[in-house]
Amino acid sequence: MSNVFSADEVVNLAKAQTSRMFHPFTCANRGDDNHRNVFGDTGALVPTVRGWICPFCDYTQGWAHGVMKGGEA
Ligand SMILES: [Zn+2]
Repeated sequence: MSNVFSADEVVNLAKAQTSRMFHPFTCANRGDDNHRNVFGDTGALVPTVRGWICPFCDYTQGWAHGVMKGGEA
C-alpha cells in the first residue's frame, strides 16, 4: 500500500489542523458520544502517511487541500 501523504506533508497537515488558520478536518461521525475535542475540534482528524484517521472510530479520509500540504516542513 503506497503512502497517501509524504512525511513532510503529514507535518504540515498536523500544523494546519492545530493552527486555527484553517477549520480542521473532522470525522463524519463526530456527533456521537465517543468523539472528544482533541487536535483542535471535536472529532478532529489526525494526519498520517496513510491518510487522515479519526482517533475515536475507524473513519479515514485520503485527501487534503493542497494549500494545507504545501511548504517546507
Ligand atoms: Zn470518528
